[in-house]
Amino acid sequence: MSSAPRALHNFVDGASVPPRDGQTEEIVNPATGETIAIAPLSGAADVDAAVAAARAAFGGWAATPPGERALALLRIADAIEARGEELARLESADAGKPFAAVRDDEIPFLVDNLRFFAGAGRCLEGKSAGEYAAGYTSIIRREPIGVVGQIAPWNYPLMMAVWKIGPALAAGNTIVLKPAETTPVTTVALAQLAAEFLPKGVLNVVVGHGQAVGEAIATHPDVDMVSLTGSVATGKRVAAACAGTLKRVHLELGGKSPVIVFDDADVEAAIPTIAFSAFYNAGQDCTAATRVLASKASYDALVNGLAEQAAALRVGDTLAPETTLGPLNSLRQRTRVEGLLERRPDHAELVVGGVRPELPGAFLEAAVVAGPRQQDELIQQEIFGPVVTVQQFADEDEAVAWANGTAYGLTSSVWTRDVGRALRVSRALRAGCVWLNDHAPMASEMPHGGRMQSGYGSDMSSYAVEEYTQIKHVMASLR
Ligand code: NAD
Repeated sequence: MSSAPRALHNFVDGASVPPRDGQTEEIVNPATGETIAIAPLSGAADVDAAVAAARAAFGGWAATPPGERALALLRIADAIEARGEELARLESADAGKPFAAVRDDEIPFLVDNLRFFAGAGRCLEGKSAGEYAAGYTSIIRREPIGVVGQIAPWNYPLMMAVWKIGPALAAGNTIVLKPAETTPVTTVALAQLAAEFLPKGVLNVVVGHGQAVGEAIATHPDVDMVSLTGSVATGKRVAAACAGTLKRVHLELGGKSPVIVFDDADVEAAIPTIAFSAFYNAGQDCTAATRVLASKASYDALVNGLAEQAAALRVGDTLAPETTLGPLNSLRQRTRVEGLLERRPDHAELVVGGVRPELPGAFLEAAVVAGPRQQDELIQQEIFGPVVTVQQFADEDEAVAWANGTAYGLTSSVWTRDVGRALRVSRALRAGCVWLNDHAPMASEMPHGGRMQSGYGSDMSSYAVEEYTQIKHVMASLR
């Protein structure tokens, strides 16, 4: 049953405020096409106000003892958990995700992420303190960076917001956060919920488009650091924009994860795990098991097994528990994915899927493409949709060369029972993470981040909290 769209506002200096010039746009549920919210179309003046609020709040928040900051984060985590069902409903409508997956997988994980960050912010360290020059004591102070601009993508709107605000707040920074234009609803809800536990101005949210709001953040002279999760193209634009003021930049960008399956792997066990990771969130996941590299002996089983798994996915009402495949995030994204499939060369066989089911919204049936070659667009470009490719490699060297043979370097997996090979290939892979005999499990304590054009910096783990700090040497004369 449809209800009236909710009116969203920016959240600046502890209050909900409309955009200064009053412009708005409709936010649509991609599963139904229904308008669920009217969102601000903010501009540079809104960013200015949010940055001013964040700057004013910075001194007080930075001086708040880590234990008190941790308590605020723990209370926010508790509040998210208590309202998990409601937030999952909003996220499902905003991003087109199956509701059960958000409630049962994503909310518990992001609550745990936040609880981890709360503790991690309490044990930051400088490496040394002592007398390194005669007559002087040196200490290393670890300090927050200041006002941090954070720009999030649409694939996991609430989780990405938590991955951004958690470490930055734990380390004592204040924030101007911009959600993706198609998915602002839960980010605004997060800011409102967190306001009960944070001093005003510590967390500000400005809703709007990349060019108007994102660029205003990246070029703002009073923003000290920008953290972006998004596409490679946006990462390059943001890094270039930040160069003007030499801001620190943290980039979590796209991925094209290789999944190398050797002859001796337990292929039957691998197939459902690979399929789950390839099609979870309709494949709109930077870590998705999108590019299977199969040995000769495992190739047919993988193509057929993945095709069976793809065909078994259920599209439909995202609130229904039996729905396992939601829509793409927008009609535009579906057209993009369809274009990649349509342009495939003759040697690449579409084994299953890739068609629109007879449903409103941006659904696309999960697809398996067998036999694309290394230089094909389907192998070189991030698809960001429910599509998995399967290539057959001749030997270990070719598998590694193909795995490393794109511009991306985010995650990867190796499937083999040979310990020596598992470790050899893990070392050779150019990726921020290698899973052995699995694909995509994560832990709050472990870092997530890329190499090459997948970006630089880490999300999650104590490394993420360090990213939002800088060190200062204080040298005291003993005279
Ligand atoms: P996108 O690059 O289109 O947008 C990301 C964010 O950047 C949005 O908020 C957008 O408004 C903003 N933006 C766009 N242009 C901008 C500009 N010129 N200046 C400043 N901000 C700008 O990405 P998307 O389509 O929202 O998300 C999908 C991408 O994100 C995929 O490539 C995916 O792999 C990547 N991603 C990476 C990770 C990771 O951890 N590495 C996690 C999730 C998503």
